[in-house]
Amino acid sequence: MPAAAHQALALILVSKLYRKRLARDVTEPYSEYIKSDRIRERSVENRRERGRKMLSGTQGEHYDLDELFNDLNAKYFSRKLAKPALSWSARKTYRILGHHDSTHDAIIISRSLDSIETPRYVIEYVLYHEMLHVHHPTVHHNGRRYNHTPAFRRDEERFECFHQAERWIEQNVRRLKRAVKKKAR
Ligand SMILES: [Zn+2]
Repeated sequence: MPAAAHQALALILVSKLYRKRLARDVTEPYSEYIKSDRIRERSVENRRERGRKMLSGTQGEHYDLDELFNDLNAKYFSRKLAKPALSWSARKTYRILGHHDSTHDAIIISRSLDSIETPRYVIEYVLYHEMLHVHHPTVHHNGRRYNHTPAFRRDEERFECFHQAERWIEQNVRRLKRAVKKKAR
């Protein structure tokens, strides 16, 4: 870190202790330094590593995400999709069933689905949706972000059990939520 940036950082840290705001020209050397691409990339890399350490693994009680990923990759992507970090969520979430995190290059699937009552095609469908996020990166247009582009939606419908899976989720997510409320009581 250049000396000017280092000094600015020291002032920023001290001002935080005293809850004081600093003039922009005092903090600028540090913020300029942080903004430089090399540093930004390194911090993404660090966050990625930290994120991966927080993941809880691909092998669930009933389903192995690694195996599901390999099958879907062969069937729909000619095995060409680069494998991100895959993990079941640490906690059972019910509103969000899957998530693709581009910063950590990771796909997280809700542990609430790792059950003998969940048909395989449902987990495949949720995972397939997140894999499409890897395949169709976010489009930036006029300052807006588009994740589910028409091309994304077309690919989504290529999933063999698309309608069945949608129906199952619609009918069962409420049941999953009820089950968790009972436990909480
Ligand atoms: Zn999505």
